[in-house]
Amino acid sequence: MAAQHNRLWKIGDVEIARIVELNGWEDDITMLLPDADPAFVQSFDWLRPHFATPEGKMIISFQAFVLRSKGRTAMIDTCIGSDRQREFDIFTNMASTFLEDMTAAGFPPESVTDVLCTHLHFDHVGWNTRKVGDRFVPTFPKARYLFGRREFEHWQHLRATNGYHHMDHLIDAIDPVIEAGLAELIEPDFQLTDEVSLIPTPGHTPGHVSVLIQSQGQSAVITGDLMHNPIQIAAPTREVRFDMDKSRGAQTRAEFVQRFGDAPTLVIGSHFAEPTAGHIVRDGQSWKLKTE
Ligand SMILES: [Zn+2]
Repeated sequence: MAAQHNRLWKIGDVEIARIVELNGWEDDITMLLPDADPAFVQSFDWLRPHFATPEGKMIISFQAFVLRSKGRTAMIDTCIGSDRQREFDIFTNMASTFLEDMTAAGFPPESVTDVLCTHLHFDHVGWNTRKVGDRFVPTFPKARYLFGRREFEHWQHLRATNGYHHMDHLIDAIDPVIEAGLAELIEPDFQLTDEVSLIPTPGHTPGHVSVLIQSQGQSAVITGDLMHNPIQIAAPTREVRFDMDKSRGAQTRAEFVQRFGDAPTLVIGSHFAEPTAGHIVRDGQSWKLKTE
């Protein structure tokens, strides 16, 4: 693990770094697409070797991005975090080098001015905080933390109604930020700078957003979890286990593929394994991700 997995992109004047916390996780496709099977994965040659194994398992990573634009340094999501109690053993009590990796990438944690969460699942908010003694405190005390209003209110609702979801991450990664007075609730028309804006992409969660970067005639989009593996570019309407609103998620994915298909925009997948980014290009009647 660690800094050897860092990757950098330059989109016009915007610098973007990928900070990986869990690299190249292999799992059954049914974890993501409940009605798919290994043969379906194997039917897409272009997924191998980066995004699928020869046996038809999917490969995904857990990572965050940090970018610099017009004097601001913004985290786009904050991964899983260390020292957590989580629903799955693999995410519990991790001891990752995430903050050191940020420094190695040229984006030291103390330089962060903004933390923008695409949505509030545990693997996108973890490093909002870090454990000091027996408390969790904001990792970026000089930053403002930007949460989508709709997303934030939905999780408050789940919590108030004992919603089905595991909630520990709200307690250790969101509450301390609120208590420190660092949170700002934003709308989908929010712009970080004139180079960095949001695209509402609901379905996975109600307030989910993707992040659009446009500078000097170049562009990129950070997906968030509207998809987890590039196989979903070829099959955008397949049901996704983790989408809160499954039909909306399918619709959002299909619209995303149409919008960025054959477009010059670099698609940076929040869970796409190395090399993580590529372009959506035609593949017969469908689409695929073409990596550099
Ligand atoms: Zn995720």
